[in-house]
Amino acid sequence: MASVTLDLDLPEGVSVLRYRRLGDAHGLEIAWPLPTRSTCDRCRLDEPVHLERTANPQVIRDLDVLGQPSFWIYTAAFHRCARCHRRQHLIPPFKRKDVSYTFRFERHVVGMLIGSNEEEVARRLGVSAEMVALIVRNQTAAAKPVDPDRVITDVGIDELSLRKRHKLYVAILTDLSDPDRPEVLAVAKGKDEAAARACLGQLTQAQREQVRTHRVDMGAPFNAACKELLPNSQAVVDRFHVAKQFHEAVDGLRKKSPGGTRRG
Ligand SMILES: [Zn+2]
Repeated sequence: MASVTLDLDLPEGVSVLRYRRLGDAHGLEIAWPLPTRSTCDRCRLDEPVHLERTANPQVIRDLDVLGQPSFWIYTAAFHRCARCHRRQHLIPPFKRKDVSYTFRFERHVVGMLIGSNEEEVARRLGVSAEMVALIVRNQTAAAKPVDPDRVITDVGIDELSLRKRHKLYVAILTDLSDPDRPEVLAVAKGKDEAAARACLGQLTQAQREQVRTHRVDMGAPFNAACKELLPNSQAVVDRFHVAKQFHEAVDGLRKKSPGGTRRG
């Protein structure tokens, strides 16, 4: 029997309880630390959590592992208000409400869109183009702030246009500090200097001062924002930087995937 060790990089607090093979995908039963207090959405009572669980497992998409989709499986947790008896979801810290994928899956989708398009990314991930478009809209609407302790030395800013059905332009700030692992840091609506400023504004001043190089499309108004907000950074001209790295990272994982995982 083939055995494969999965090297998982999990968000803080998330632990794996059990692994399950799901056809050509990986299933990870996970747990996360529940909040101890909750505020009722209806009557605003703030009190210690009165926990309720349902038997239905939640299954949400996370990053690929060894070139195959991985899904997190967990039991939904609810808080029951002692005053008005409303039952409300305790939303896990790794996803937003009413979606079936993690925040980091969202950022990965946005990164894959650089130099590609909705249809192509949807096909590669086995999801719908509508889901890809929704992810981009959610990412531009409610950004997760960048961890202020993160050390960022090299960044890229790219422009993305979803023109087919949605007519949406966004600027994407990417962390290129580890060339093998580009990561999306921030996404903002627009393709002008203001959009680039909005992205860079997600970094603290100390973080911006640590940046040594930035890669932006030539002629883009992003340059002006970088010049001002990244005082110690040099511009590097490399038009296809991020796209290339994102796609190589994905392809690299596929190449490393041992045949044994398919047979289980
Ligand atoms: Zn209440």
